[in-house]
Amino acid sequence: MWLLQLQTFVSDYLTFASDYCIWLWTYGYFGLTDWKPVFLLPVQVFFLVQAKEAFNFWIMGDKCAKVKRNYSMTWRVYGFWFRTATPFYGAMMMLHRFGLQDNEGFNFSEFNWASLCDIILTFYVMVIIKDVCSMLPFHEKMHNEWYHLHKTHHEIGTECAALSSTNIDPLDLIIENLCASVLILAVKWAFGFPVRIHMLSTLLSANLDVNVHSVNPYTSVFFNPVLDYVFRCNIAHNIHHGLNKDNYTFVPTANDA
Ligand SMILES: [Zn+2]
Ligand SMILES: [Zn+2]
Repeated sequence: MWLLQLQTFVSDYLTFASDYCIWLWTYGYFGLTDWKPVFLLPVQVFFLVQAKEAFNFWIMGDKCAKVKRNYSMTWRVYGFWFRTATPFYGAMMMLHRFGLQDNEGFNFSEFNWASLCDIILTFYVMVIIKDVCSMLPFHEKMHNEWYHLHKTHHEIGTECAALSSTNIDPLDLIIENLCASVLILAVKWAFGFPVRIHMLSTLLSANLDVNVHSVNPYTSVFFNPVLDYVFRCNIAHNIHHGLNKDNYTFVPTANDA
């Protein structure tokens, strides 16, 4: 178990660093407000996510749930990846254009603790905001009363994997995922902080949405080993897909299954 956990930590941290490097390279080449990365990044990150899941299957072997090992990705799931990732990167580009998102104060050559704390704390506040303002009030309702808005996401049950996280309709995507970046900007404005967000906070938030669907239950989402060990968000959300109810928040609560 501990070897699997260690291998997963290393893989998750390296993959996230690679994801950020891909962003840096792509935006460095085209510029933060260019539209070309909006179409290029979904292709690049598609291969990164698939490579990490392939590694997860390899290290877990027979320990990985049989339903996941037997499942073959469909063209519909691949299509949803690009249908969902493209507007996400489009929203990122618009945040850059309006000066609401930047890449200031943190880079590999000049390590900056203050900026790193800002990025991580902003990300944690985004997770809480998303659960409190979106998942708690709307997710259960979408299962009981407005299931037509959410049923696409639950076409994938216990076989869910990182890539199928994007199997989601546009309105559901806005309610459950994209709202976090807008709400954190509103919170910063309300408390008198500069109304901007570091792109890494947004990337960490999106990474959580993807990783809670991973085939590997040891997957990190908080990039804090203690929080990841305590909350096990991946297991909670995989249970949500298996039951098609319960565990409505990304961070499990005491009442969850
Ligand atoms: Zn659901
Ligand atoms: Zn899900």
